[in-house]
Amino acid sequence: MPPLGEPQMTQGPRIDPPRLNEPYLLTPGPLTTSYATKEAMMRDWGSWDGDFRAMTAEMRKRLLALLGPGSEAFDCVPIQGSGSYCVEAMLGSFVPRDGKVLVLANGAYGLRAAKTMEYLGRDFHLLDKGDYLPPRGAEVSAILEADPAITHVLAIHCETSSGILNPVEEISAATYAAGRELLIDSMSAFGALGLRPWEIRYEAMVSSANKCIEGVPGFGFVIARKEALQRAAGNSHSLSLDVEAQWAHMEKTGQWRFTPPTHVVAAFLEALRQHEAEGGVAGRGARYARNRDVMVEGMRELGFETLLAERWLSPIIVTFFCPADEKFVFDRFYELMKAKGFIIYPGKLTVVESFRIGCIGQMDEHVMRQVVRAAKETLAEMGVASAAPPAAALEERAKLAA
Ligand SMILES: *Cc1c(COP(=O)(O)O)cnc(C)c1O
Repeated sequence: MPPLGEPQMTQGPRIDPPRLNEPYLLTPGPLTTSYATKEAMMRDWGSWDGDFRAMTAEMRKRLLALLGPGSEAFDCVPIQGSGSYCVEAMLGSFVPRDGKVLVLANGAYGLRAAKTMEYLGRDFHLLDKGDYLPPRGAEVSAILEADPAITHVLAIHCETSSGILNPVEEISAATYAAGRELLIDSMSAFGALGLRPWEIRYEAMVSSANKCIEGVPGFGFVIARKEALQRAAGNSHSLSLDVEAQWAHMEKTGQWRFTPPTHVVAAFLEALRQHEAEGGVAGRGARYARNRDVMVEGMRELGFETLLAERWLSPIIVTFFCPADEKFVFDRFYELMKAKGFIIYPGKLTVVESFRIGCIGQMDEHVMRQVVRAAKETLAEMGVASAAPPAAALEERAKLAA
């Protein structure tokens, strides 16, 4: 067992490990949150009361500040529900009913966005790159040139199903060169990776409380250009998911339109303060990158191989191929890792077997070393001699290099 419940001695930013022998969640959210974040939920707030309105205002201001210079042109609109509610709210609010979206998919979340377009009954073109190949700027340019009806492009920042970091800057450049507008699902990246307005142009992006800001689940938020928010009036198919209406109401009254997740907001505000204390986006991103580097290096030493080459690996979550050794059974690996205090995540590839290990949440490189040690012990318990993947997995990976 790793020393759960004991404070971690770190040189870098302090992390606050789970207490009461809870396992670490090596998952892309919900994730391991700090004790202070959980503790912030230990009181009740009136949704109409000035104290809670001040909390909402502070939260919106802090989120906008994460954009850095240029954030004055944007505003932040929180939306109740999980991240998918926010994606749906963004698509339904910023894409006019007669608009058309180029959906760039290379995994489950891109495909979910396409499905959302189906539900919305709005036109879209799906570029499906399969399990993990990145959509490139040149492809976007070619599709936009061939189809003048397309008004918007939807890109996934980090596609959490493989962990790939998609080339959003290149996609943005291609989109605006063709005179179209970009919407970004930055759910699993925002807070650890920048979306700085002076580096990348976009109309709106979404993220949620339970990813890189390290809050608990319950709401998400849209950060959009004020000018795009104004233009969005009347577009939405949905009362509760109308981003412009939520924005207008919040601007006027300081309140959410419908019951806000008060405790979740209180926890999130605490998480935002910790994010700032850690050095903001740069500090958070650096800790996650270090988590990834230490974990990937250790897993490779055990013989595991990553799906993605270095260039595409995000500091959010990493996909590993399951070992070829027939003694390796994922469910058993999962249970034995859990017994050692680590909850990992199954893979989502369609062609070969895989699993994922998240790098986000209240964890640092010391925890990641314990994860690798636990994986080593688990392989020994299972009698797996080598963690090397099957040849088919490596052939699959070679496609990425091609
Ligand atoms: C987490 C996530 C979502 C939202 O998923 P929910 O289960 O609705 O919270 C959307 N897109 C990406 C890329 C994500 O990682």
